[in-house]
Amino acid sequence: MYDSIVIGAGVAGSVIARELAERGNRRVLVLEKRGHIAGNCYDCPDEHGVLIHLYGPHIFHTSIRRVREYFSRFTQWYDFGHKVVANVHGRLIPVPFNLNTLHMVYEKEKADRLERLLTEAFGEGSRVPILKLREYPDREIQEIADYVYENIFLHYTMKQWGQTPEEIDPAVTGRVPVVISRDDRYFQDPWQSVPQEGFTEMFRHMLDHEKIEVRLNTDARDQIEIRDGMVYVEGSPFCGDVVYTGPLDELFGCRFGRLPYRSLDFAFEHYDAQDYQGHSVVNYTVSEDYTRITEFKHLTGQKIDGTTIVKEYPKAYEGGEGEIPYYAISNPANEALYKRYRELTAPLEKFHLLGRLAEYKYYNIDAMAERALALADKLLGETPGATGGRA
Ligand SMILES: Cc1cc2nc3c(=O)[nH]c(=O)nc-3n(C[C@H](O)[C@H](O)[C@H](O)COP(=O)(O)OP(=O)(O)OC[C@H]3O[C@@H](n4cnc5c(N)ncnc54)[C@H](O)[C@@H]3O)c2cc1C
Repeated sequence: MYDSIVIGAGVAGSVIARELAERGNRRVLVLEKRGHIAGNCYDCPDEHGVLIHLYGPHIFHTSIRRVREYFSRFTQWYDFGHKVVANVHGRLIPVPFNLNTLHMVYEKEKADRLERLLTEAFGEGSRVPILKLREYPDREIQEIADYVYENIFLHYTMKQWGQTPEEIDPAVTGRVPVVISRDDRYFQDPWQSVPQEGFTEMFRHMLDHEKIEVRLNTDARDQIEIRDGMVYVEGSPFCGDVVYTGPLDELFGCRFGRLPYRSLDFAFEHYDAQDYQGHSVVNYTVSEDYTRITEFKHLTGQKIDGTTIVKEYPKAYEGGEGEIPYYAISNPANEALYKRYRELTAPLEKFHLLGRLAEYKYYNIDAMAERALALADKLLGETPGATGGRA
């Protein structure tokens, strides 16, 4: 019946399914455990008609031309430069820390002097890790690093990862950037947008192909079994390509123990007001239990009366019913555990692991799509299309 099977209808699964069907002329079966497509990029109107992102705010940002052009086949875009502010003791300042932030935090004379020093030392437009600022032989420059660490990085990271200051990897701390520029945008990518009709619509168009069948509410673990170096589908050996984008430990019944993740609770609130916070995303970097508040209408450009926000509460992932693993916790012990699971799939030539869960690695949407396109190139024996390359 099918030439290839794809497990999961998120970014990874949708892109690879479309490619195998369209470029490879293959009949593709997509199995999706949830009642909807689009994975964590899923968006839908809430009961007030406000378009919300159910699994946290998603902005498509990229400098990969091939990916931008690929997605553009399935959607028009609402383009904007994504900006984030941090609430520091009630004051909203732009993040990442940049020259505008500098002028908000310090009085004029000192800010002017520091701006001159930073520009001369590191060059206009550069992103300087705070580790470098700390090593700079000027006490006032070092002070900026301390400000960023204390007011933007430390408490936010403790909440996000459930860590004490001692547990935070110094290498991660050192990489926190200060941007020597007046550019307030959160990302520097040339394309920053959301699909005009929403992510779900974009993925619906992608999966809408005569050779693709999508089965929702279908857990692949009930249909697929791996034993004796073979993949069995509903009890029969399957010889085609199988692309798995779900959690790798769950595929093997977590026999070596669970792969650790951070999870999130989302608290949605609706207000009969035109505006709640005046910004799409406000990070709470020194106070509150939640890490950030997103106000959707500022992100999606939707014109609507009333407004819906979401607060994000990080928490440990315990694998309970309905809990979602969001962020892989990368450290040597967890990588070793992941490798043990991956070795179980090594003898399976046509079984491919793709995606943030199957690869136990964080990817942005664009990087995920790029990997899915590359896997399609490999499986179809083709080289990347002429649209490859970065902007
Ligand atoms: C809070 C948050 C915010 C983010 N914001 C951004 C952003 O602004 N910009 C950006 O570029 N990236 C963002 N990302 C990253 C983005 O979500 C990922 O790049 C993307 O989801 C990866 O796609 P995926 O297909 O690998 O995973 P997913 O989207 O998780 O898709 C995997 C799919 O597989 C299904 N599945 C799992 N197991 C099974 C099974 N046994 N049987 C059948 N189906 C199964 C799942 O239900 C799911 O639908 C964010 C991530 C998080 C956590």
